[in-house]
This record gives sequence, C-alpha cells and structure tokens, in this order.
Amino acid sequence: MNTEDLEVWFITGSQELYGKEVLKRVEDNSKKLVGHLNSENELAVKIVWKPVLKDAHQIKTLMNGANGSEECIGIVGWMHTFSPAKMWIAGLNVMKKPFLHFHTQFDQKIPWNSIDMDYMNTNQSAHGGREFGFIATRMGLKRKVVAGHWKDTKVIGKLENWIRAALGWNESQKMKVARLGDNMRFVAVTEGNKVDAQIDLGYEVHGYALGDLLEHVKEVDESDIENLIRRYREEYPITRKTVTDEEFNVSIHESAKIEISLRRFLESGDFKAFTTTFENLHGLHHLPGLAAQRLMRDGYGFGAEGDWKTAALVRTMKAMSSGIDVGTSFIEDYVYHFESGNIKELGAHMLEVCESIADGIPSLEVHPLSIGNKGAAARSVFTAKRGPAVQASLVEFGDRFRMIVNKVEIVKQEEEMPKLPVARALWTPKPDLPTAATAWILAGGAHHSCLSYSVNTEQLEDLCEMLGIEIVIIDEDTIIRELKKELRNNEIYYRLHKL
Ligand code: MN
Repeated sequence: MNTEDLEVWFITGSQELYGKEVLKRVEDNSKKLVGHLNSENELAVKIVWKPVLKDAHQIKTLMNGANGSEECIGIVGWMHTFSPAKMWIAGLNVMKKPFLHFHTQFDQKIPWNSIDMDYMNTNQSAHGGREFGFIATRMGLKRKVVAGHWKDTKVIGKLENWIRAALGWNESQKMKVARLGDNMRFVAVTEGNKVDAQIDLGYEVHGYALGDLLEHVKEVDESDIENLIRRYREEYPITRKTVTDEEFNVSIHESAKIEISLRRFLESGDFKAFTTTFENLHGLHHLPGLAAQRLMRDGYGFGAEGDWKTAALVRTMKAMSSGIDVGTSFIEDYVYHFESGNIKELGAHMLEVCESIADGIPSLEVHPLSIGNKGAAARSVFTAKRGPAVQASLVEFGDRFRMIVNKVEIVKQEEEMPKLPVARALWTPKPDLPTAATAWILAGGAHHSCLSYSVNTEQLEDLCEMLGIEIVIIDEDTIIRELKKELRNNEIYYRLHKL
C-alpha cells in the first residue's frame, strides 16, 4: 500500500493579540516541533506544517482545505498559546478528518531563573489546551488527546498509533468490497446492513454472481496458468498426501486459473477486499483456498461465507500496518484445549488463512474438502509464528456496529497435527481463555475475526473513535462483572447517540 503521498496536517492555534514578535516565536517553535517529528521518528506518513491559525476565518479555510484534500488523512492541533475557542467553532463544525489534540509544550523544563510574564504568555499550552478542550468536548468532537512532551518516545508512540488508525480510517472511506455470492445460508453474524456500513464506516459492498468471476476464468491463457504453477513450485515445498498425482495436478491447475481470474476480477473493479462462499461455487473446480491465501498475503482483505464485514476489517488492518506488516489474517475460532494449567485455543479456517502469519515457508497441499461437495482443493499449510497479537471482530446490532478486540499471545505448537490439512494458529487470550471467551460471547463477537501481530489495541481504539463506533477491549484488565456494566452502559449511550 502506497503511503508516500499521504499527509497529516499540523496546525498551531494562537491569536493576533500576542503581536508579531510572539507569533514569530510560535511559528518557529511549531516548525521545529514538526521537523523533529519528521526527522527523528519513523512515522507512517509525513507531518505537514501549516501556518499558525489566528482567527476564525483562517481556521475554517484550513478545515475546508483538509476536507477537500485527498492526501490529508488527519489533523494534529497544538495550542502553543491561548487561542480563544469561539474562533474554533465554525472550523470544527465543518471538519471531516480525524483529529488529534496534541497537548504539548515547546520547552520540556521551566527555566526557573529566567521565567517572567513574557515567558508565561508565550508558553501557555497548559492554559490554551484547556480552552480548546472545553469547546471540543462541548461540541462532542471525536478526537484523541495526547498529553506530554513532544520528544518523549511514549508520546510519539501514541501519535504514531493514531496515524496508523488514520491510515485504516482513510482506507475504509474509499474501499470497495466485492461479494461473490451471498451469505452462507442460516448464518447470522456474517450478515449486516450494507447501507449502514457505508454511512458509518465508509466502504461500499458490491454483490456479484459467481458467473461474473467465471467470465474471467474462461479467458485465462494456458501459458499464464503454466507460469503461475511454475511459481508455486518455486515458492512452496510440495506434499501430496491424500490425492492421486492426477488429482493433484488438476487441482493445482484449477487453483492457478482461479487465482489469475480472481486477481483480474478484483483489479478490474478496483476492489480491495472480497468474499466467497462454499455454498455457491457453480462452475469452479473448488473453493478458492490458495488463491484467497495468496491474495490476502498481497494485501487484499478476505472474508469467508459472504462475511464482508471481516473482509473489510482485514483490509483496513492491513492498511493500518502498511510497511510494517508482520502478519494480518482472516481467522476463525475453532477448537479449545482445556488441559488444566495449559488452556489454549486453536484457530484456523476451511482453507483461507493468510500466509503473512506463517512461521517459515508454507507447504502446498491438495486434499478433498469434507464439506462443500466440490473438487479437492489446493491450499498452503503452515503454523502461525509466536508472538503477541490482537484478534478483532466487527458485528452489527441493527442500530450500530461494535468492534470486539482481544489481546492474545500466539504460542508454539508443541504437538504435531499430522492429519490437520490447514493453516492454523494456537493462542492464549488475555487475561485467560475462560474470561476472554466469556467476555467475547457476552459482547456478541463473531467466530470470524482478523488476527494481527502488527496492529495494537490502542490503534483499534483510535480507529473506532474516528469512525464513531463502539469498541469493547478484552485484555489483562478485563473483569467480567465490569464488562457487563460496560456493555449495559454502552447500550444506552449508543442508542441515545443515534437519536
Ligand atoms: Mn467460517
């Protein structure tokens, strides 16, 4: 994903009252601050300095410019001095981009020996930031507040998390999701209101019949298929346990054809995420397994059984980890290991787990699918690498969307699973599996989710703030009794909020 052209705008609030000399110092200081952010840190996108804002007209003009800018994915605002907040009302009323209130101060330390009233007037972020905070809260502004010195790495980390959330927000605003076939029959959680999704989350979901993909399948040249099969053979060690050589070769051939045509289909409609369903495969040799895995690896979002919400979420979380993605995948909660003192959970799917979470090189395998009644399907098989990760799910309750996030630790797979022919991850959720599963189920979290080693809970919290949707985080601090209260309180808050 290309983030080179994207920008975060940095604005500095002040007023004319201070006079030229002070305003020049304010300008110099905010330029130095922005220079430091850009040069000393590896932020996901560049920070662009904008001239100091001194009246309501300048503020509104700036906000309209940000709204109209394709490059601007968010605005960071700093009150270096006091900026009377009535000046901000018109601008904040039109602002449509994510906002971060940077409550910092130019000097880290008070110059005890030289401090006088001139110094106090020039360096009054503590004062100006509160005036701005009042109007932002008064107007119900969705924003993140980050307080602390701008050279502090913890402070920069919070800013970086917000920028990564803004990358997800930006992607969500322009994303198109292709839904091949409808929902898996009878399944509830993968459904949802696509109009509400477009209003609240930004992205469009377009439905297609499988025949639309088959048009592309028919047009694939044999030479392209042969080239892709050659690449498969270079990339993967090949094992063939449960089918004949002929069945293996047929499946690999059909898989290459499906991958090429799916890519062309997605590119032709500028889709960044897609869904399939094993109940609608007429004309395809088998369920797209390897194709979905490889497309996810290349940055596409994917959701199985028509799950467009998870498809969009996987793409959004991949966008949030642009340039640093060490693993982000569609996943499904599958089986528990309830051994006393060693409780953990096994996640996988019928086939479609992203290769970005693999520990080492996946193997290419062909096996019959036990459900779906189609040909033996090619898939890459691997074990997920160890490390901390998050599991995120997005559900819809008719009146609103809720994101449920669980911090998890992906653990080593001590036992071989020689008969399990799919990619899998084994994890222990925070604070522990019984509490996490209880919390997830009380919150209505789905069996489909996005598992990511790159995105963190603070980023998802920032993303939900930007989108104005509910988030429930399950982590080390989760206590079921408190979580129940949170869910009940949220019920009231979000219903009132919609009125
Ligand atoms: Mn599923």
